Amino acid sequence: MIDLRSDTVTRPTAAMRAAMAAAEVGDDVFGDDPTVNALQARIAAELGFEAALFVPTGTQSNLCALMAHCARGDEYLVGQMAHTYRWEGGGGAVLGSIQPQPIAHQPDGTLALAEIEANIKPDDAHFARSRLLALENTWGGKVMPLAWLEAACALAHRRRLATHLDGARLFNAAVAAGGDPFAAARAITRHFDSVSVCFSKGLGAPVGSALCGPKDFIARAHRVRKMAGGAMRQAGVLAAAALHALDHHVARLAEDHANARRLAEGLQGLAGVAVEAPQTNMVFVDVAPEIGAGLVDRLREDGLLCTGLYKLRLVTHLDVSAADIDRAVVILRRRLQEKTA
Ligand SMILES: *Cc1c(COP(=O)(O)O)cnc(C)c1O
Repeated sequence: MIDLRSDTVTRPTAAMRAAMAAAEVGDDVFGDDPTVNALQARIAAELGFEAALFVPTGTQSNLCALMAHCARGDEYLVGQMAHTYRWEGGGGAVLGSIQPQPIAHQPDGTLALAEIEANIKPDDAHFARSRLLALENTWGGKVMPLAWLEAACALAHRRRLATHLDGARLFNAAVAAGGDPFAAARAITRHFDSVSVCFSKGLGAPVGSALCGPKDFIARAHRVRKMAGGAMRQAGVLAAAALHALDHHVARLAEDHANARRLAEGLQGLAGVAVEAPQTNMVFVDVAPEIGAGLVDRLREDGLLCTGLYKLRLVTHLDVSAADIDRAVVILRRRLQEKTA
């Protein structure tokens, strides 16, 4: 099977498993797991923050951020298709009593500055208190322009809102920018008050995310993590995987991006099929309804896993090679020429 459903399907490499097996551990609820502490110090320093918190998932990381930035009756401004709004079970509202104010995305994934500004509520008893602007990078595989991130954060700060970045795939954006990936990551994160980053996606760790921010913010987030059931014990075995990923799996994201381009190029020239040029590791393929019906199931029969209906999503990652991509192109080209409806 060639599994292009997500970059979360990666399995820990032998070297990563060895690092996990060798990890020094302690009880992190007492704060004495040395590997967790090392990871938190490392990711905070790499991304330019005072402190960081290791959490089991990106969803919990974003929840900790929302609840550490906002109180009951506050609101956060967020993209209509952002993970922190649409794909986290409404956790901010359910668990934090925080109201989301979704804003439609522009075609490039950004939110119009005028719409952000127009959605910040005046200080008036009728309204929830606008407290936070939550952005995402990459978003749908797209790299958000640095100038826009900077302008959006400046606007938020001018209006006394805090800013949070859901950087589940921050390092994909950083690697796409070119140069030293950690410096490129800091060029993005320096505009934000807090940032969440996933180790369990393109970086290939089995679980784990980190939330980064100022010390007092991380102390509040730590409390939320406990409430959410995310305080772990000998979590050093997991932190070791994340540290290994930071050492060995960041720069290589360029290979995933090259494979995504290879895939998109291989799918050119088919009638009824439009392929978006990928910016990072996601390829979206728009197919006419008569081709799209049942397509994901038919691809599965051929040994290719992906998601989507009329828009297929194909994600490259650590566990797919250029040769796998070439096989995927052959399978896709055949199926994308079939009309079934
Ligand atoms: C995957 C993802 C998350 C968090 O995912 P978990 O599955 O909870 O680890 C958050 N934001 C974005 C943009 C994501 O893609």
